[in-house]
Amino acid sequence: MKPCCVAILGSTGSIGVNALKVVDQHPQAFRVIALSAYNNFKLLEAQIRKYRPAYVAVGAQGLAHFKKTGLKGIKFYKIEDCAQLASLSQVDVVVLGMRGTSALMPFLAGLRTGKRVAPANKEALVIAGEVIMREAGRHGGSIIPIDSEQSAIFQCLDGQRSKPALVHLTASGGPLREVPAGQFKRMTPEQILRHPRWKMGPKITVDSATLMNKGFEVIEAKHLFNLRWDKIQVLIHPEAIIHSMVEFEDGSWLAQLGITDMRLPIQYALTYPQRLSSGLKSLDLARWGKLHFYKPDLKKFPSLGLAYEAARQAGTLPAVLNAADEEAVEAFLKGIIGFPQIYKVVEKVVLAHRIVKNPGLEAILAADQWARQEAGKIIYKR
Ligand code: MG
Repeated sequence: MKPCCVAILGSTGSIGVNALKVVDQHPQAFRVIALSAYNNFKLLEAQIRKYRPAYVAVGAQGLAHFKKTGLKGIKFYKIEDCAQLASLSQVDVVVLGMRGTSALMPFLAGLRTGKRVAPANKEALVIAGEVIMREAGRHGGSIIPIDSEQSAIFQCLDGQRSKPALVHLTASGGPLREVPAGQFKRMTPEQILRHPRWKMGPKITVDSATLMNKGFEVIEAKHLFNLRWDKIQVLIHPEAIIHSMVEFEDGSWLAQLGITDMRLPIQYALTYPQRLSSGLKSLDLARWGKLHFYKPDLKKFPSLGLAYEAARQAGTLPAVLNAADEEAVEAFLKGIIGFPQIYKVVEKVVLAHRIVKNPGLEAILAADQWARQEAGKIIYKR
């Protein structure tokens, strides 16, 4: 069997590192053609020496570093040009592990050259879901999501001939699930970053504390599975064993279950439609005994309601939601604003936005910039 040739963008982040572990599990099944990283060039160098990619994109500091190391046989790109790695003819699957809107151009480049794109990144689909799905349809590119919930929905719908009546997106509830809302103003970044179920980067962990992360997933699912916003429901499920469920017209439900390890959805996206051994321990339901479910508290976690509003109104509003959230979370992580202010900042920016309907990329990126400036004005009281 010809090995699957992969480009792993954001290779030093948690998704990239796990994607390379999947490669390690099946060294004959994969070839790493391209890697990219923004600034962790020490780890990137170790990855280059181990996987010998032919193409690497890296930030300016890294470029200067690699000029000195004399690594042979590698073509280096600026990180801004990493979309070129996604359109290389040798590449079969593009893993998007980087965070932020920088994933948008490589996402489109991969689809436009007919590849399979495996996004772990949420921002691209949140801000430009319609553009992305249109380009995928036009050029024959396919999307197999890595985000555990979207992967679960994809797996539940694979081979089905009927559209789901409802999608039930599960949420662990995040690190503040059992913390009373009255204590939110005292929460420090360190406390928030201790997530009970998933080990992830700081931005997404804060987003899972506000439930904004789940809101982004509602918007993502809307685009990925061509659903109306109100057909996607969020269900808190603290054990995070069921990664999401679909419900059909006849009342029948399908769920996807597994241990909470990102290597499962990553490997699925790389090997689909095949399934290979993951080498991971199997789910022991008898040990869990009970699984719990309840509805999210929108008063305690208003960010989720705000995200639903953005999903409903669509246009440039999701891009504004995403950009304002990114600025607010960064300010929280730096200790500039308190935890409850994250929502307040985002809400103010969202309410002030004049939505552009059916936007192209230019309008989306303009809305993104506008929202960052507005958020900055509120955060720094300029
Ligand atoms: Mg998720």
